[in-house]
Amino acid sequence: MYCANDDRYTTMNYRRTGSSGLLLPEISLGLWHNFGGVDLFETGRAMLRRGFDRGVTHFDLANNYGPPPGSAEENFGKIVQHDFRSYRDEMIVSTKAGYLMWPGPYGDWGSKKNLTASLDQSLKRMQLDYVDLFYTHRMDPNTPLEETVQALDLAVRQGKALYVGISNYSPEKTLEAIRLFEDYKTPFVIHQVKYSMFQRQPEEGLLDVLRDNAKGCIAFSPLAQGLLSDKYLSGIPESSRAARATGFLQASDITPQRLAQIRSLNELAKGRNQSLAQMAIVWLLRHSTITSVLIGASSVGQLDNSLDALKNSTFSNSELDEIEAIL
Ligand code: NDP
Repeated sequence: MYCANDDRYTTMNYRRTGSSGLLLPEISLGLWHNFGGVDLFETGRAMLRRGFDRGVTHFDLANNYGPPPGSAEENFGKIVQHDFRSYRDEMIVSTKAGYLMWPGPYGDWGSKKNLTASLDQSLKRMQLDYVDLFYTHRMDPNTPLEETVQALDLAVRQGKALYVGISNYSPEKTLEAIRLFEDYKTPFVIHQVKYSMFQRQPEEGLLDVLRDNAKGCIAFSPLAQGLLSDKYLSGIPESSRAARATGFLQASDITPQRLAQIRSLNELAKGRNQSLAQMAIVWLLRHSTITSVLIGASSVGQLDNSLDALKNSTFSNSELDEIEAIL
């Protein structure tokens, strides 16, 4: 039997998601990689337990996480049933729909049909009555935005989601969605966006839109899938994400120029008595618009290392200038 650590709420900070009632931990855990049917079930389970023991209350999924697609939700459901049943009210579980999930015209994108059916499937796989947060995973250029908004609104009205979010939308479409959600009085609270030292597009308008409209922001792939760590400094380790034949991080992404940046950032992090991964995480938290940093991990050791980032979360102006110069 798993019994959660009594001290789990003593070290984590919780931030308000925009102006909503929802508080999220400064660091959340995502199940995109390392929780699928092809992965070691017990490693995933150990990471969920350790995260929860250290105050990570928010776990992020999507219908297609695996591989195979759906298996991360299935594994998560088994672990919740077995370990976290009595802790469900202490957890914020999110899922998403919008990438290809089943064949035919309804298993993809942002129609009401896809989003509604997908959420029902996700709830079954996770063995949950409701999710705390349901996202449209990407903007659908061929479905009216109002229909996607209506589908998320329906999920809330059906009691299948408490809050809704959008992911990977441009600043302009985000603003349009915010206005529509206002019309429907839907509890739209957060945007999930790729943001890291190596991916700074949200600084070109999106963060301003979210701040001006009192919405939250959760930053995914904060380590650029592991690039922002010391892992690739002397080659590509066999078990690393970049060594996998499939996936979004490829060996070709680790260019000499990237490596030079990583090396300099790593030296700077050492000067702060931090790992580069830790520095990359707290660098994102310097923005008050960022509600939470959504990390991935492949071991309990990595998770611990990343969570320890919060032990040193302030930067001097000269450190920030140095980071800027390196980037
Ligand atoms: P990260 O950028 O945090 O990358 C995680 C990887 O970095 C790990 O698998 C590991 O690589 C390495 N790593 C993690 N911690 C450390 C550490 N302390 N020291 C050294 N290396 C470390 O995030 P992800 O790309 O995994 O994304 C996080 C979450 O964001 C996902 O699980 C998902 O929930 C969400 N997401 C959302 C998307 C969207 O479209 N909305 C898209 C992508 C992600 P290794 O495996 O090589 O050991």
